Amino acid sequence: MSLKNMAIQEVSFSLANLRKIDFKSGQSFHSKGFLPFQDLPRLAQEIGQINPQFDVLQKGVHWEIRTWVDEQADQTQEHRFTIHLAFAYPLECQRCLNQYEEVIQLTSQFVLLNEEEQVENFPLENDLEDALLNSHQFDLIELFEDEVLLSLPLIPKHPIEQCQLDIILAPGIVTQNDIYPGASETTLASENPFLRLKKLKFDA
Ligand SMILES: [Zn+2]
Repeated sequence: MSLKNMAIQEVSFSLANLRKIDFKSGQSFHSKGFLPFQDLPRLAQEIGQINPQFDVLQKGVHWEIRTWVDEQADQTQEHRFTIHLAFAYPLECQRCLNQYEEVIQLTSQFVLLNEEEQVENFPLENDLEDALLNSHQFDLIELFEDEVLLSLPLIPKHPIEQCQLDIILAPGIVTQNDIYPGASETTLASENPFLRLKKLKFDA
């Protein structure tokens, strides 16, 4: 596999254009920007439920995308891209139940396949990359939202030195279990709603 020798274009996208990227054009490009959470509607909605005071107009996601073409031994081409996202996301600490911001940076790689069947059959155990359906109108905003939601911790927790739990737990009076009984089996561990996204993504 060799990287095809093609000029990489620096481009900038409007919000509307991020919803209809033409990956099928075959043009390699690099682009980056900042999106307030307000412009990522699924995230804005989730955040509104966690912390209505959170400033979704000023705070958001720094994003970057690089696309390229790999030329295969049999002359066919594979189109790939990586995205890098950096953001601070408001969550409720499951230890002390106070609000905090989880700082996250992630990089994900994708290969664009032309047939839905190829995407469905793409091995889930591939740790390097995920497969997506190639398109003339790819919705990058939706992908950013998916990646952010999938990256959130299953059980959000402060770094231990910032956690306020000791103030709540007077020794010998209440235990952690009195505060949220059975939490470890039910509320906390059983269901991260965002995990379902990962499954849906591949079942779709
Ligand atoms: Zn805490």
